[in-house]
Amino acid sequence: MADIKIEFPDGKQKEFGADQTTKDVAESISVSLAKKAVAGKLNGKLIDLNAPLKHDGKIEVVASDSEDGLSVLRESVALLAKVALKESFPSIEFGEEVGDEKGFYIDTDKEDGQVSADSLPAISDKVQAFINQKAPIKHISMSKADALKKLDGTSYEAKLVQDSDEEEVSFYEIDGVQVLASGVAFENAGDIKYFRLLSVAGAYFEGKSSNPMLQRIYGTAFYKQADLDADLQQRQEAREHDHRVIGNDLDLFFVDPKAGAGLPYWMPNGATIRRTVERYIIDKEVADGYEHVYTPVLANLDLYKTSGHWDHYRDDMFPPMDMGDGEMLELRPMNCPSHIQIYNRHIRSYRELPLRIAELGMMHRYEKSGALSGLQRVREMTLNDGHTFVALDQVQDEFKKILKLIMDVYKDFNINDYSFRLSYRDPKNTKKYFDDDEMWNRSQKMLKGAMDDLGLDYYEAEGEAAFYGPKLDIQTKTALGNDETMSTIQLDFMLPARFDLKYVGADGENHRPVMIHRGIVGTMERFIAYLTEIYKGAFPTWLAPKQVKIIPVSDDKHGDYADSLSKSLRSAGVRAEVDHRGEKMNYLIRDAQTHKIPYTLVVGDDEVANKSVSVREYGEDKSESMSADQFKDKVLDDIAHYSNY
Ligand code: ATP
Ligand code: ZN
Repeated sequence: MADIKIEFPDGKQKEFGADQTTKDVAESISVSLAKKAVAGKLNGKLIDLNAPLKHDGKIEVVASDSEDGLSVLRESVALLAKVALKESFPSIEFGEEVGDEKGFYIDTDKEDGQVSADSLPAISDKVQAFINQKAPIKHISMSKADALKKLDGTSYEAKLVQDSDEEEVSFYEIDGVQVLASGVAFENAGDIKYFRLLSVAGAYFEGKSSNPMLQRIYGTAFYKQADLDADLQQRQEAREHDHRVIGNDLDLFFVDPKAGAGLPYWMPNGATIRRTVERYIIDKEVADGYEHVYTPVLANLDLYKTSGHWDHYRDDMFPPMDMGDGEMLELRPMNCPSHIQIYNRHIRSYRELPLRIAELGMMHRYEKSGALSGLQRVREMTLNDGHTFVALDQVQDEFKKILKLIMDVYKDFNINDYSFRLSYRDPKNTKKYFDDDEMWNRSQKMLKGAMDDLGLDYYEAEGEAAFYGPKLDIQTKTALGNDETMSTIQLDFMLPARFDLKYVGADGENHRPVMIHRGIVGTMERFIAYLTEIYKGAFPTWLAPKQVKIIPVSDDKHGDYADSLSKSLRSAGVRAEVDHRGEKMNYLIRDAQTHKIPYTLVVGDDEVANKSVSVREYGEDKSESMSADQFKDKVLDDIAHYSNY
């Protein structure tokens, strides 16, 4: 065969026979590289280690200790798992399957009962058997048309092949079973070392909630035992923090895609936490000079045409409701136009400024279904929203005042791990934003100046601004390590102009106010997801859904005393409850601990006789005896002092 020209990553070129492979290339470089080589990358595309190179191009030898190397390993395990699934459940259909640097997953669908986590051990054993047998993994490549014929044209996989830009489609054959592949695999199952099938969860085909829900099997694989162990450990830690897991265990909230994806239901426990946060923040804002209002979630679409939302934010909005008589109603994606209505209700004087209007405002955003996550990213949310209307020379002071409020509030919740992001418009894509270069330059400078004045550290992010102006975002981290915006302060010169806002100045003339949008705790949804994660569900007493659990040693003998204690605590505003189930005491104590209740009181003969209680605090082994009155003072003091534990 004719020779081909192969270029290495360092730019050097060398000639090879067209039937030579990445393995040959690796061997020509060094023995150690050849040992580590698991695949090739020809012109940026992964290929089998032993596939003939065929044509000129840039080659990269993919070593096991690279991200691509991990992808090849994980794709190999995913394919073995697909074969194992097919052999165990002949009627199974597959959706998407991906093996990459994060792990792997396989989407499955079955008519006769879906694959569940219970099936994973058996599937895992089969995969291990293929590894032990050193089963060959044979690559079969075919044209798109042949692949569609093979897949009989109607399956999920056929749809994926149909929609793909690739002309060549890969299958791999293991144990006589051929399965569609999304990547490149090893030649032999014996090369696989450490793998784990992790979990099963529902996932819509192609991430669209209008498509059927498939069962997604997650897994991972590594070349070294220590790496697998570290990954499992990290997953376990993330799980212990994950608000979706805790939210389920503590019965805080649920989201049921059948009732509506991204539309959460707050159970009494979650609702109690939310109510506490809502009362807290309203009181705090009222004390800081805000006026709280209520405004409708629906408004005439014209309002959002005037505001610019319809032009710049439409993708995130629910489609308007056509009322049939020419009226179009829109679910608001933001509360700003509503608060502008409140501002415009009266003629405003400079003496009223800064005018601070706030609301726990419910809004709706049509987030992509793949982005939805528990309470963290939802489609209906309630924002601790506020809009301050100020004169131009009040902007910096007001900005600092808001920032101080945010930092005060964070202290009360014991939030310490956050960073400041100055979010600017994307200079390369100014079309997405309100068109006024001078306004952007001026307001970006103003924000930066205020941060520098305060001597606070921040980083700058282009392309993260709102369409109407730059902002300061306060970023926190989720259990899974993602950055999320919690609080935000945004400068806006645009909406005041669009809605023709005015105030009468000291000079008797009309002037245009500046608007500052701000969210302190952000949305109730994201904030409570975040609190759940930082506290791992062990909420400080003032937020805990249940603060005191009272356990009578014998329900018959001590139940009445327990009830009288609970009544007295409840009338003092403490969320106390008696466990009347009459089960074994140790079981009831453990149950109270599992539910992370801050105080468990045990009451028996002595306590009844002395009007006392035996108190065990959450996470402590020992209990302490004190009078019922002393305990009441203690718990009230704890509640009053917020997050100081
Ligand atoms: P993101 O970039 O996270 O989508 P955003 O920049 O669009 O947010 P803003 O318009 O500034 O968000 O919204 C104010 C606050 O609302 C954010 O700081 C965040 O706390 C919260 N938030 C935004 N979108 C969601 C959502 N889909 N679910 C829950 N909370 C949200
Ligand atoms: Zn706003």
